[in-house]
Amino acid sequence: MSQTKASRGNPPLVPLGTLIGHELRSGKAEKPHVKYGQAALAKKGEDYFLVKLDCCRIPDDPASSFSVFAIFDGHNGISAAIFTKENLLNNVLSAIPQSASRDEWLQALPRALVAGFVKTDIEFQHKGETSGTTVTFVIIDGWTVTVASVGDSRCILDTQGGVVSLLTVDHRLEENVEERERVTASGGEVGRLNVFGANEVGPLRCWPGGLCLSRSIGDTDVGEFIVPVPHVKQVKLSNAGGRLIIASDGIWDALSSDMAANACRGLSADLAAKLVVKEALRSRGLKDDTTCLVVDIIPSNKLLLPPTQKKKQNFLGSIFGKKPLNGMSKATSKLSSVGAVEELFEEGSAMLDERLGKNIPPNQNSGVFRCAVCQVDQSSSADDVSANMGPFSTTSKPWEGPFLCPTCQKKKEAMEGKRAS
Ligand SMILES: [Zn+2]
Repeated sequence: MSQTKASRGNPPLVPLGTLIGHELRSGKAEKPHVKYGQAALAKKGEDYFLVKLDCCRIPDDPASSFSVFAIFDGHNGISAAIFTKENLLNNVLSAIPQSASRDEWLQALPRALVAGFVKTDIEFQHKGETSGTTVTFVIIDGWTVTVASVGDSRCILDTQGGVVSLLTVDHRLEENVEERERVTASGGEVGRLNVFGANEVGPLRCWPGGLCLSRSIGDTDVGEFIVPVPHVKQVKLSNAGGRLIIASDGIWDALSSDMAANACRGLSADLAAKLVVKEALRSRGLKDDTTCLVVDIIPSNKLLLPPTQKKKQNFLGSIFGKKPLNGMSKATSKLSSVGAVEELFEEGSAMLDERLGKNIPPNQNSGVFRCAVCQVDQSSSADDVSANMGPFSTTSKPWEGPFLCPTCQKKKEAMEGKRAS
């Protein structure tokens, strides 16, 4: 959530079309290779992962390919993790218009990820089961990496220069003040476990339910203030490529980002994943499910191993290129030339109005509106829709925000605690 405020004050984002133009002119248009490795140790058997290398934006067109890597760390059962693994990708993709060009598609992804996460949560809720899951969901299209996450399964990026950065935010009540405030404001109670009514033990939890996370998919029994709205970050790597390490908290409770990256530099993705799990086990023992995906994004003209050297981290924290106000062409190409990572998008707000924007219905003339979350079309003649007609009516009170169907509108209000009494 801290990122939310920071990003609001920033100048407008660099248009993706501009960046792609640079890419083409600098001969960077060829897609990098993606190599991955996976390793896991089960304690409770609630970790799941997803690897899909052969997705196509345009059906049967390999030139439009992208890959997906995800980790789902379940709790209180496995059904939420399995359901999310099976449905989330389709729910995200269905929120992007079929006709979108590549740059439109990439620009639409952050919004589509929010819609897909919320839709998956609503669908899971209808099953009436009580388990929950973290989700760290990574889409790689060329040099552009988009990460959406709820919970505490992290994704880190290790660039060629040896600089390690976090692409996710930990949604843990213990560590995230803004999330504590949001949960409390929406009607949840945050506190530690009471033993014998006196001693408070363990991390901060949300009551009822006692969950340590502030965001997840599922957890129907805990409360709507545990929201499925993901933190989303989109970056573009330099043509030096980079390595992603995506892992459940079994790794991160044992190793810092730097430790995990350092442990496996110079090794193939396959060996790297095994070694990171081994390192975590060595330092902490097997206390939790431990799953690790290592993904190398490698320039196609040199199929070399990922970075072997670690340079001094004197610019840690400023690895992401600043977004210039105007005339970004010069600054952008300069950043690329020194191997910096360009930050295209970052937003972590839990408010759907801020995440989905104003929805432009695909078919304004026919009076059909499409829900920005579940993509279901609603006829404007329906009574229950008329209240949300603001953007297209000058006489009624302007309705700020995306168009939502009654089901998704109800979900939104429940998450924000407006129905709490
Ligand atoms: Zn809907």
